Amino acid sequence: ARKFFVGGNWKCNGTVEQVKKIVTVLNEAEVPPEEVVDVVVSPPFVFLSLVKSLLRSDFQVAAQNCWARKGGAFTGEVSAEMLVNLGIPWVILGHSERRLLLGWISDWNNVVLAYEPVWAIGTGKVATPTQAQEVHTALRKLLHDNVSPEVAASTRIIYGGSVNGANCKELAAQPDVDGFLVGGASLKPEFVDIVNSAT
Ligand code: 13P
Repeated sequence: ARKFFVGGNWKCNGTVEQVKKIVTVLNEAEVPPEEVVDVVVSPPFVFLSLVKSLLRSDFQVAAQNCWARKGGAFTGEVSAEMLVNLGIPWVILGHSERRLLLGWISDWNNVVLAYEPVWAIGTGKVATPTQAQEVHTALRKLLHDNVSPEVAASTRIIYGGSVNGANCKELAAQPDVDGFLVGGASLKPEFVDIVNSAT
């Protein structure tokens, strides 16, 4: 079975005080063990070190983007090597809010695929469980036909777009919904309820 994955994309939000508050809520939360669910929070770059230093060790940290090439004279960019150097194991790539495309993937073991209908992002209009399941099935078939049956079976495909504490359970019950990428609700205590929809 694929391990449930819940990502919290904080987008361009937060102050040092707010970040500390969110982390405190997460650190005190009762959630399933890390064998059952990957919990990954993604603060803006400037807060990555702070969050990493304060966050409980069974939760992980992700960057919200990185430079596609090696470092050098590229003002304002942050390279993947820098994230590795900082001990940041995940990065969100190609989010529709950045209008970028996912590049060539050499190792699918390290990839979690997020389906986020643009009409559902930040609108309060969540996909129905049937809609999400339908698209996730299609994405899995795409992986099956274009990569391999093994990759199709093992890659986690997560849903994003107005996920909250009230709608997560029904979505999580779909066989091909392997977790969530949460925006707005990841800044609130209900993120814990979303993590708990893993079980
Ligand atoms: P919302 O959960 O705020 O709709 O955002 C979804 C998203 O874009 C997560 O990456």
